[in-house]
Amino acid sequence: MPFAALGLPAPLLRGVRAAGYQTPTPIQQRAIPGILEGKDLVGAAQTGSGKTAAFVLPVLARLLEGFHALRGLVLVPTRELAAQVETAARDYARYTKLRVGVAYGGVRIEPQERMLRGDGVDLLVATPGRLLDLHGRQSVAFEDIEVLVLDEADRMVDMGFAPDLQRILRLLPKKRQTLMFSATMPPELNKVAGQALIDPMRIDLAPATRTVAGITQAVYPVPKHLKTDLLDEVLKRTSMGSVIVFVRTKHGADRLARQLERRGHSVAALHGNRTQSQRERALRDLKRGRVQLLVATDIASRGIDVDDITHVINFDVPHTPEDYVHRIGRTGRAEATGDAFTLMSPEERRDVEGIERFLGRSILRVQIPDFDYGRRQAAPEPGMHFRERERESGGARSGGSRGGRSESSSRPSAPAAPQAPSHGRRPAKADDRRSRRRM
Ligand code: AMP
Repeated sequence: MPFAALGLPAPLLRGVRAAGYQTPTPIQQRAIPGILEGKDLVGAAQTGSGKTAAFVLPVLARLLEGFHALRGLVLVPTRELAAQVETAARDYARYTKLRVGVAYGGVRIEPQERMLRGDGVDLLVATPGRLLDLHGRQSVAFEDIEVLVLDEADRMVDMGFAPDLQRILRLLPKKRQTLMFSATMPPELNKVAGQALIDPMRIDLAPATRTVAGITQAVYPVPKHLKTDLLDEVLKRTSMGSVIVFVRTKHGADRLARQLERRGHSVAALHGNRTQSQRERALRDLKRGRVQLLVATDIASRGIDVDDITHVINFDVPHTPEDYVHRIGRTGRAEATGDAFTLMSPEERRDVEGIERFLGRSILRVQIPDFDYGRRQAAPEPGMHFRERERESGGARSGGSRGGRSESSSRPSAPAAPQAPSHGRRPAKADDRRSRRRM
């Protein structure tokens, strides 16, 4: 489908061509016609999907018709996103007379006031706190606003902007079009959405390019040979519902499933060597709560669609950042309550760093108190391959050198990663969310 078929006016099509776009992305194809018709929208699409153009183009089309005033408002969580959206909007609007402005905190307010009071803008991209400040100083009026966009709405809520959003909603004209983009729908946002949107169309396109906001991520550094022990500890210390444990190989999946079973967990395994009926049974058992843990390989995970996975645990760090995003996308689907833990051996550190670069942020390192990270490292049993040791000792919790926690915890602990912060017994929500910040 070409852009021309979407119903956009000619000057905007020129702007799109000048931006170098050939064909609309899926979200643009699905969202633009409906927005042009004036419908409200909830879109679960993320950065990288082309969502900015999906709302900016039809909003600009609407603003092209009618008088010059502040009629379009885009609210975003951060100044970076504000600047990005503004740049995109200016690009698409370059063959029109529409004026686009931006306002965010952390910089002087006066130039923004001059911009708004002078010639004014048709479309304003703003962070909620600064917008309210401007409104408080009577530098911006909302009475002509006819279209509102909440972009990355869950991040706004995450950053503590829910009360500001509600205040802004109260100040805006009731008769307007509202578009909301959000990767997840936390309860607070649901409330905002209930107030802000009328019978919205819903578009759910969450590509595996960035992680879903609301998923709490943590990395547990641990020597490779202690991964099963650490996983066992994490499972015991954390309250979890249904869990998917990811491993790299089919063989590894079977082995880990056996080891976990021997330690008293209810487990099913899912991988390419399983028959269709075995796979279906594994998924059914997980869905119905007959098993708590599903040990799966990446390939097998593609079709998994279980709503209330509370935790995803990467027993092995995935090969690629895309696989990581895909894996952790299994949790936090319905609500923003998913946790994603990754067990990282020293050999996997670079892979984790690659994931962090891809995500554009670091993931908190977590260390379990009382867990003996130094166990067996100093003196591996001579002549015994790691796999054999694993097989031999897996589940042999009574007796033997592996067994008792009390024995191991009495030894001095040697953290796998010196920078890892320690914390209380239940792994704290490894939360790198920012505290409330007025922008
Ligand atoms: P977004 O998801 O809005 O952050 O967009 C991601 C990137 O895709 C941006 O660099 C856009 O310029 C680009 N983009 C958006 N729509 C298209 C399209 N239809 N064709 C090619 N690139 C696009």
